[in-house]
Amino acid sequence: MNISYLKQFPDSNGFFGKFGGSFIPEVIKIQMKEINEAYELIAQNSDFIAELRKIRKHFQGRPTPIYFAHNLTKKYGGAGIYLKREDLNHTGAHKLNHCMGEGLLAKFMGKKKLIAETGAGQHGVALATAAAYFGMECEIHMGEIDIEKEYPNVVRMKILGANVVPVSFGAKTLKEAVDSAFEAYLKDPLSSMYAIGSIVGPHPFPRIVRDFQTIIGIEAKEQFIEMTGELPDIVTACVGGGSNAIGIFSGFIEDDCVELVGIEPLGKSNIDNVKEGEHAASLSYGSEGQMHGFNSIMLKDKDGNPASVYSIASGLDYPSVGPEQAYLNSIGRTKVGLVNDDEAISAFFELSKMEGIIPAIESSHALAYALRIAKDLKGKKILVNLSGRGDKDIDFVVKNYGFGKN
Ligand SMILES: *Cc1c(COP(=O)(O)O)cnc(C)c1O
Repeated sequence: MNISYLKQFPDSNGFFGKFGGSFIPEVIKIQMKEINEAYELIAQNSDFIAELRKIRKHFQGRPTPIYFAHNLTKKYGGAGIYLKREDLNHTGAHKLNHCMGEGLLAKFMGKKKLIAETGAGQHGVALATAAAYFGMECEIHMGEIDIEKEYPNVVRMKILGANVVPVSFGAKTLKEAVDSAFEAYLKDPLSSMYAIGSIVGPHPFPRIVRDFQTIIGIEAKEQFIEMTGELPDIVTACVGGGSNAIGIFSGFIEDDCVELVGIEPLGKSNIDNVKEGEHAASLSYGSEGQMHGFNSIMLKDKDGNPASVYSIASGLDYPSVGPEQAYLNSIGRTKVGLVNDDEAISAFFELSKMEGIIPAIESSHALAYALRIAKDLKGKKILVNLSGRGDKDIDFVVKNYGFGKN
C-alpha cells in the first residue's frame, strides 16, 4: 500500500474512494467548511501538537501499555495474544483520544460549548470530561430509553457539569439523539461546536476523529516491536462506527504482512441463521447508502431505510459504519470477523478470570475472535485492541449471566 495512505485519504472532499463525503444541507456545509479549515490550520501548528501531547501524557495517562496475555496464550496453546490497553486511558476507553482533540480544536476556534449525542453514554462522559478540562459548557443529547438503561453514565455526565438533554421522539435512542444534537448545534453554530463520537458523520468528522485516534496505532507499533522484535501477524478491533479500529489499524496499514480484522457484532444471531434486527454487522450484511450525512455501507430494512439493529454491546449497535472502514474493506485491506453476544460474554469472563482485566463488552468481541482463531496459529502473534474497560457493564452482565464459571 502507498506509504502516504493517511495523507492521501480522505481526499479534499472527504471521500475514501466512493465512501464518505458530506450529504448535508448548504447551511451546514458552511459550518463544516469552517471546522475543516480550522483543523487544517492547527494540524500543522507546533503549539497545538505540543499541547495535545502534553494532555495525552499528563491528563489521559498515555502511552497506554501493550500487555502479553500470558495465561490466555498458555490456555489456548496457539498464537501469542497481546492487548493494547485502551481501557487504561482516563475515563476507561479510547473515546477520550478524540474528545480531547475536538475540545482543543473548539477552544482554538473560540467556541464556548461542546454539543454531542450519546448512545450508551460513553461518548457523553468522555466529552463532558474534555469540556470540564477546557472550561467549556457541554450539552449531551440522549434518548430517553438510553437515559434509563445507562443511568450511571448520566450521573457521571452531570457530575462533570454537562447538561443532559432527554430526547423523547421516535425510538428515543441513538439515531434520534443525533438528530436532536445536530438541530441544537445549528441553532447556535457560532458559539458551539458539534463533537461527533466516532469516524462517522459528514466530512471533516471522519478524518478529524481518525487522525486523533491514530495515536493508538503509532504507540502500538513501536511498543509491539520493542516487546517482540517483530510486527504482529493479526490485529483485531471491534467495529461500531470504527474509530478504535482505525486508530490501531492505521499504525499497520502500510505493512501488508499484517492482517487487519474488524469484528462486527452478530448479536443474538448465529452465523448460519442471521436475522434482521438481531445484529449490527453493517459491513457483513449491509449495502451502499447514506445516513447522517455520509455515504457508506449500511443495514437497510425492506423499504431501504436504516434497519433496526441490536448488539449486547450498546457501543456497537449502529446501522452503518465509518466510510473509511467501508473503503478499507472494499479494497480488501481489512477483513471482517463476526462474534455474537454469547461468544463476547465468554471472552468477557475469560479475560476477567484468567488475566485480571475486566473488558468492555464491545472490546470482548475483538478478544473473542482472537481466542477463536488462536488455537490453530501456533507461532503467530495476535494484537487485540482492548478499546475499553468493563466497569460500565458489570451490573448488566451479573444480572443476566451471573458471575461466570470458575
Ligand atoms: C464507543 C465504544 C466502541 C465503539 O466505537 P468505535 O467508534 O467503533 O470504536 C468500542 N468500544 C468501546 C469501549 C466504546 O466505548
